[in-house]
Amino acid sequence: GFKCGIVGLPNVGKSTLFNALTKTAAAQAANYPFCTIEPNVGDVAVPEPRLKMLAEIANSAEIIPSRLQFVDIAGLVKGASKGEGLGNQFLANIREVDAVAYVLRCFEDDDITHVEGRIDPVADFETVETELMLADLESLEKRRVNLEKKAKGQDKEAKATLLLVDRALEQLRKGKPARTAEIAPDEEKAWKGLQLLTTKPVLFVANVDEASAAEGNKYSDQVFEEAKKHGAKAVLISAKIEAELAALDDEEAAEFLREIGLEEPGLNRLIRAGYDLLGLHTYFTAGPKEARAWTIRRGALAPEAAGVIHTDFEKKFIRAETISFDDYVALGGETAAKEAGKQRIEGKDYVVQDGDVMHFRTGN
Ligand code: GDP
Repeated sequence: GFKCGIVGLPNVGKSTLFNALTKTAAAQAANYPFCTIEPNVGDVAVPEPRLKMLAEIANSAEIIPSRLQFVDIAGLVKGASKGEGLGNQFLANIREVDAVAYVLRCFEDDDITHVEGRIDPVADFETVETELMLADLESLEKRRVNLEKKAKGQDKEAKATLLLVDRALEQLRKGKPARTAEIAPDEEKAWKGLQLLTTKPVLFVANVDEASAAEGNKYSDQVFEEAKKHGAKAVLISAKIEAELAALDDEEAAEFLREIGLEEPGLNRLIRAGYDLLGLHTYFTAGPKEARAWTIRRGALAPEAAGVIHTDFEKKFIRAETISFDDYVALGGETAAKEAGKQRIEGKDYVVQDGDVMHFRTGN
């Protein structure tokens, strides 16, 4: 599955947020048991209002959302890249995630110590990212020595890798994350292979006090501005409120949300943002048994999409009968869409679109 890491300084609200995420996931998934893979990994359902609409039209007995994993990565402090705190463990954990959500403290509370003794979410972001940059810098400088030796011989791959390493180092030495380097499409694979921390896509999470959950505050404004500078998305959330919401049943939660002026739990926005960040989207299958959302990479072709259902389907793919979500709903289901000529027969070069309702035909 796809993993999004929750990263930040101590006492910013990471665990509160993580616990709310896993509690909500446990509560909402009666027919899809919540599984704790490891104590710090939570497997959550991606909120998808379109699924319910499909299930009603198709008369589905069950609704099965797609899933996303969040990993609570504790232990980052200044000096982590030099092994301070849980330094090395922290870095190992973060290497394994596909994207990073920076949780930034945007609430004041004299009872809760801030490790730096002040509330400054942008400075906190810089502290965290600096540790990641230092870790990348160090690991690349180590690797470079060996690569340079190999590149002096006839090792073409080493030569190509060395060029990429130097491009990353150039950014890092300027104090910029490696993701700011320019990478050509045909270099993407080798670039990913470097497994750097600062090439992962990032998301800013502004954790505000309860009173600022709907409108934000001066700190969260700073976070949104900073995110914009990096071309990244920011999500406004109050971990405290999310923790309270997670303990309520649906009706109570809806009432509570109305009172504080929120349309939906902040966690839904966070989960969706994580999904976007990972470059994912959704196609559906719908029938009397179940209406189900499936996660694929944006740009995935039909056979790859079929392979998410069953690995065999990718090899045995023949065609995909496809109806767009809008047509499916507007016409009132598969049969009507077919009669209206809105069911397309797509082949193996078809790029699956977000919201496609699909049937795969496979051979032997
Ligand atoms: P972590 O170290 O980043 O995992 O932080 P925790 O989630 O353990 O939170 C540290 C403390 O801050 C706990 O006592 C939380 O209850 C508190 N906290 C978290 N979010 C908020 C918030 O939005 N408002 C207030 N007042 N306290 C919060």
